[in-house]
Formats: sequence, C-alpha cells, structure tokens
Amino acid sequence: MSWDITKVRADFPILHRNVNGHPLVYFDNAATSQTPKQVIDVIADYYTHYNANIHRGVHALSQEATDAYEKARHTIQNHFNAQHAQEIIFTAGTTHGINIIAAGYSALLQENDELLVSAMEHHSNIVPWQMLCEKTGAHLKVIPMLPNGTLDMEVYETLLNDRTRLVFVNHVSNALGTINPIEKIIDQAHAVGAKVLIDGAQAAPHIPTDVQALDIDYYVTSAHKLCGPTGVGMLYGKSELLNLLPPYQGGGEMIATVTFTKTTYADLPHKFEAGTPNIAGCIAFGAALDYVNSLGLEAIAAYEHELLEYATTQLKKIDGLRIYGEADNKTAVISFLVGDIHPYDMGSILDQLGIAVRTGHHCAQPIMDFFQIPGTLRASFSFYNTFEEIDRLVAGVEKAKQMLE
Ligand SMILES: *Cc1c(COP(=O)(O)O)cnc(C)c1O
Repeated sequence: MSWDITKVRADFPILHRNVNGHPLVYFDNAATSQTPKQVIDVIADYYTHYNANIHRGVHALSQEATDAYEKARHTIQNHFNAQHAQEIIFTAGTTHGINIIAAGYSALLQENDELLVSAMEHHSNIVPWQMLCEKTGAHLKVIPMLPNGTLDMEVYETLLNDRTRLVFVNHVSNALGTINPIEKIIDQAHAVGAKVLIDGAQAAPHIPTDVQALDIDYYVTSAHKLCGPTGVGMLYGKSELLNLLPPYQGGGEMIATVTFTKTTYADLPHKFEAGTPNIAGCIAFGAALDYVNSLGLEAIAAYEHELLEYATTQLKKIDGLRIYGEADNKTAVISFLVGDIHPYDMGSILDQLGIAVRTGHHCAQPIMDFFQIPGTLRASFSFYNTFEEIDRLVAGVEKAKQMLE
C-alpha cells in the first residue's frame, strides 16, 4: 500500500504556509512536530464546550472534562501497553517526567551507589541525575559511544555491577537518530538488579513500544514530538516502583487528607499530578495518539525510512558534506556539516529559502564534544514530508555552500 501523502498533508494546515516567500519545508520535526487539524479541533472543542476543572466537580462540565482526561490516560495506556491506567502519569513533558524520578530517587539512593547514563543523552536526561548525585553521593558513570554514533555495548557490560541502581538511556538519540538496543540494555541491567529509565521522546513518534514486553521500569515521553501540543507528556512506571517514590510536588489533587499535623497522599496516578494539569493538552495527547495510530506507526516508519535513505543518498553527493551518526538502525534524522561552514550560517540561508532545519548542539553537547565539533545542521523528517522537499534541501545546501565557501 502506498503512502497517500496528499491526503496526509491536507491534515496539517501549517504545511500550506509560505516562509520568506517560499512554501515552507519543515525539517525540524525532532524538535517539535506539527499538529494535525484533528488535534487542533480537540483543543478548540474543549475550550468551546466543556472547559472545567477535573475530578472534584459535581457539575456536568467537570464530569465531561474528567471523563475526557481519564479517557486520554487509557488511550496512552493502551498505546504503550501498560498493565494499569494508574501507571500513566500526566506530566509537562519528558524533562518533567525525568525530574520526577530523579527527585524520588534522592530518598532511595545511598552514597557510592552507581547510575549509568549513555553518552548520547539529551541534557534533560543528564542534568537531573548530576543534581541527584550531588545530593546523595552516588556516582554517575557514562556508557561510551563509538564513532558511528552507536553505544559501546561491551563497555556497558563491564560498567554494570551490584552497585548499579539505575540505567537511563534514550531509545532514539535526538541528535543522531541512532536507535539504541534497549531490549539488551534492559535485560543486562535487570541481571544485576538495576532499574532502567527509557527516554522515549524521539522514539514514540516512530517506533511502537510495549512497556510490558520490554519490561521497562520507567518510560517518559512528550506529546509535542508526536503531533500533540507542547507542555504535555507522560511518565510510565511499574506501579510497585512508583509506589516506592515520594511525591514530587505538594499541592491539590495529590493528597488524600490534609491537616496541619499530618497529610496523607493520594494513590497513583494522582500522587504525582499536583495542581490543575494542562487538561486540554492531556486530552489532545490522546487525540494525537489516535491520529498517529489511524495512519499506523509501522506505515509511518516505513515511509520515513524511505525519506531517510533518499536524503542520505542525495546529501552525500555534495562535496565536503559529512554526516554524523551512521548507525545501521536509525530514525529519519540527519546531522551534518559541510566543509568548514558554520552550521548557523548555512541554517540562516536555508531559512531564507523557506527551509526549517535545526542548528547547534541539539541539547546534546557531550555528543558534539565527542566529534569535536561546535554543532551540526540537523534535518529531521516526518511522515508528512516529501521527496520534493528533500530535493529543495539538497539544492539549498548546494546554494549555501556556493555562497559561503
Ligand atoms: C525533546 C527531547 C527531550 C526533552 O523533551 P521536552 O518535551 O523538552 O521535555 C528529552 N529527550 C529527548 C531524546 C528529546 O528528543
């Protein structure tokens, strides 16, 4: 079955605008994806028809809002195949989810416990753990990377020992597109009794993930990279593990009873959902998953892989162009540099041509240090991009090269 790109693109109003006098080419999908009208409509529908605070209201609007919010939680539960709905915690995004776990572990760690982080993490999966180590006296060790942008799994095995408490790694690197072998990472960590947190921010939009089949302990992701709104995400944790963690924030919604002598906490998931959440955003997260599933994640991945292969072949024809991250197994992300041209200069010229790519370190400075570069240009493709758009990128890079060299 071929991909009906015209029909898909019709769902995304923003793809039909011009930028700097040219039709927009949006290749910054790894930073945030665009939003289909099906999801925009769900947000508008909430504010137009049933905007109300959830859970404690006796009135009709509050009931409707609560039902839609909890329905979205079930949609997320089904999508990731969590055993219980209460294992899905709504968050403000991947960063927030990681901070909930990192803060919770400050009550569980002891001095000289060890935590393992991969060399290709987003800053949001590095910094909270460094802060945790400072607080607890635990040590952060790094799983190194090989020159092709994959993890050194042999060293990983040697780093694991009976002091290892937690391993955190992204399923897919946002800067390189590398798909990490999380099944193996998880099995080996479990063999020494360590728990694993998977950062799914880049994987969730492209790869079906079954948290039970993979035996994932904690999983975090954001809605805005899979066609949902910004500022919303989810944290999955096995309920027996989440029950061990203290609440992250105190406030409304997360309590069972409050007195000035003693407050008791609500059960999962509310224990971690203090305050009024982004109700419309959470409902829209569910709608985004419904949208993506209506197209099919496998069909999406297959089409994006074709885009990746085509773009890689075409870009490599450009003299002096180097691609960073050449794992066999990667998503549709291409990080590259051309000659000595600064990525920002080339990115600015591409912008003048209506082409949106990201430039810089992509919140993954250790990767740039590894390659001894200041940053890259990153083109990241989505299922609504076209081969013609890739041709425009290639022509744009050629043009910028002529202007800047
Ligand atoms: C985007 C991203 C994050 C951070 O997500 P936020 O939505 O900004 O919290 C973390 N990890 C990876 C791999 C990402 O791509």
